[in-house]
Amino acid sequence: MKTINLQAGTVTTNEFSNFSIHTYTSPESGGLVNSQIIETSNHLILVDTQYLLPFATELKEYLSGIKKPIERIIISHSHPDHWFGNEFFQDQKIFALQEVRTILEQAGDAIIESYQFMNENGSLVPTAKTLPNFTLKEGLFTLDGVEFSVVKFTDVEDSIIAGIEIPKENILIAQDLVYDFTHAFTAELANTQNKWIEILESIQSKNYSLILGGHGTPSAGDILTPAIAYLHDATTAIQKALKEGTDKESKTQIYSQSMLGKYPEFKAPILVQLCSNYMFN
Ligand SMILES: [Zn+2]
Repeated sequence: MKTINLQAGTVTTNEFSNFSIHTYTSPESGGLVNSQIIETSNHLILVDTQYLLPFATELKEYLSGIKKPIERIIISHSHPDHWFGNEFFQDQKIFALQEVRTILEQAGDAIIESYQFMNENGSLVPTAKTLPNFTLKEGLFTLDGVEFSVVKFTDVEDSIIAGIEIPKENILIAQDLVYDFTHAFTAELANTQNKWIEILESIQSKNYSLILGGHGTPSAGDILTPAIAYLHDATTAIQKALKEGTDKESKTQIYSQSMLGKYPEFKAPILVQLCSNYMFN
C-alpha cells in the first residue's frame, strides 16, 4: 500500500497480480470521500465520483493520467458525497443498483437544490443532476480476466449500498458500509429497522484480506472491528441523547460530546454535527 499526495487529495494504491486499486481520498474539507479506481490490464472501473467539484476535477485528472479507458462508473449509494462529481463524467456509462437509480431519479433535484447555498463560495456543487444511466446487477461480471461480484447491502448507512467483491483476492470495496477510522454518518442507526451493525458483524466471518471504505485514507489491517465498536457506541449515544436531551441543541450536544470524547483520534468530526441535524429535532 503506497500513498502519494496530490495538490488537494491523496491516492493510495494497492497492487495485485493482474489489477490494482487506486483510492483517491479528498481532503477533510471534502469529507475524506473515497473514489476507488480499479485498474485492469486495459481498462478502469471508477467507484463513486466525489462530493465537491474541485476534488472531482482532481480525480478526473488523475484518471486521465493512467491513460486507459473507463469501462464503467459505479455509484455505490444515493448520498450526494458519492455522485455529485458525475457532472464531469456525463459521457460515461454510469451504473447503480435499480433502487439507487430510483432514489436519485425521484430525489436528485431536491438534493441538488438543498446544497446550492454552498455555491455562494465558488462552484463547489453541481447545479443540475447527472443520473446513473445503466442498472447495476447483483452477481458476477468479469473485466480483463478479473472477476467482480456485486453485493447489495440493505438498511445500513443508507437504505441500499452496493459493495463490490473481488473474490480471487478476497477484497471488499465496501464504500460507506465501513468508515475507515473516520466519524460515521449514523443517522440511519436511529431507525429501528436498521441492520448496519448486524451486517458488519456477519461479514467479519468472511475474513476479507482488504476492505476499502467510503471515507478516510485506506488503512491496512482490521478496520471492521473499530467500525463495529463505533456503531455500538453511537447507538448508545443516540439513545442517551433522545432520553436526556430536551431539545435539538441539547441532544446534539450529548451525542457530540460522547462520540468526540470516545473517538478523539477519528477524522472528520464535522460528520458528528452533520448527522445530528438528521437525527434530532
Ligand atoms: Zn459518504
